[in-house]
Amino acid sequence: MFQITPQLFDKIKHFARFPQTGVSLRQMVMFGQKPSAGTLFKASQFLHEELPIRLAHRVKELHELPYGLGEMPSILKVKDWYAHSFRDLIELPHPQLSSEIKESLKRAQKNDPRALPPSVPNPSIRPRKPVNNSIYPSVPIGHRYYNNIDELACTPEMTTYTDTFVKTIENIKRRHDPVVTTVAQGILEYKEKRNANLIDTDVQQFLDRFYMSRIGIRMLIGQHSALYRLPSRKDYVGVICTKTKVQEIAQDAIANARFICEEYYGLFKAPEVQMFCPGDIEFMYVPSHLNHMLFELLKNSLRAVVERFGMDYEDNYPPVKLIIAHGKEDITIKISDEGGGIPRSGIPLVWTYMYTTAEAQELEPEYSRSDFRAPMAGFGYGLPISRLYARYFGGDLKLISMEGYGTDVYLHLNRLSNSDEPLM
Ligand code: ADP
Ligand code: MG
Repeated sequence: MFQITPQLFDKIKHFARFPQTGVSLRQMVMFGQKPSAGTLFKASQFLHEELPIRLAHRVKELHELPYGLGEMPSILKVKDWYAHSFRDLIELPHPQLSSEIKESLKRAQKNDPRALPPSVPNPSIRPRKPVNNSIYPSVPIGHRYYNNIDELACTPEMTTYTDTFVKTIENIKRRHDPVVTTVAQGILEYKEKRNANLIDTDVQQFLDRFYMSRIGIRMLIGQHSALYRLPSRKDYVGVICTKTKVQEIAQDAIANARFICEEYYGLFKAPEVQMFCPGDIEFMYVPSHLNHMLFELLKNSLRAVVERFGMDYEDNYPPVKLIIAHGKEDITIKISDEGGGIPRSGIPLVWTYMYTTAEAQELEPEYSRSDFRAPMAGFGYGLPISRLYARYFGGDLKLISMEGYGTDVYLHLNRLSNSDEPLM
């Protein structure tokens, strides 16, 4: 059984003092364009420093949650996962290039003949300069200079390092799969104990920060692992598609949402979704994020329409409209339905976690395996999580309702993709 020892907690507190380093979509694409052994080695080094810092921030925050929320069994479980992953990373030997190696690589870049291996052997890789007295074990490696980072990265020692590193972070990603459902469970435990129906603003803000950080950590891990495993997939840099076809993704999300809707209500035919799109739009994005957001928004619209008109209206439902626009700055997708809208007083609530007007659903472990995916509705996570995904790459999600008629949601996606990663 894993336990947070006082020594481990000290290290966590130490790492939590360092600021997190953001990475923009554009940076990820530039960096990963043609990943060589050297690129992957450099990325491993960056992540090996960055991930423990991000994880440490989260453990500290979970530890300091107000009103006893941090003592809920499910929250404690999540805190253990974060601490465990932190420990996995800092216990993994972490190579640090010696100044001699750095010097020889710099010369090699400038075509300086002195970069060539000299006759004196050189203890090339030393333990990483410890942030806190000697946290990292050292990696022993051969005795020579390197002409470039790829040559260094291809040594058996370093290939073993990059390989072990990828496996470690993939394992971490898997460990954290059920985080959203488990935190949701923790909030339920807390609501029950406090006999509260809604959650306070600061808990709401904590959840926004926490889930946003999770998106960031998973993006970094997913990106690294995809670069490592699939270094040359056409039009892809890791999980980022440089030619994301908005129309195709929308078509997919429409089919999935309508299918789920038909299953859930026992309908022969879900409301139609009409798509309006000025030609083929391609842009740089993470297709799975876009798919997730559109799927959630479409499910909401379909549900509103079906529940407003009833199950016997099948052939006459007013269609949901999906309109795609592209400007210089943004690609905007508007989803309009005639599902009756939301009362104005209810608008702030739809952005809170666990607010739903659907019958509460059991938190099924089946859904907790992958990223959070509610079947039709009932968790109240669809809108707030989609907004986080949109904001993660500098976009946004807005909702406007006409009570008695319908709802418009606007999904803004930033095309310039150079916005800074939101780190809180
Ligand atoms: P869930 O769908 O699980 O309830 P969401 O966060 O997706 O969670 O939505 C929260 C609530 O917002 C819904 O339960 C519903 O009451 C309201 N809502 C969202 N989208 C719409 C819409 N298009 N029309 C009417 N109500 C909506
Ligand atoms: Mg929903």
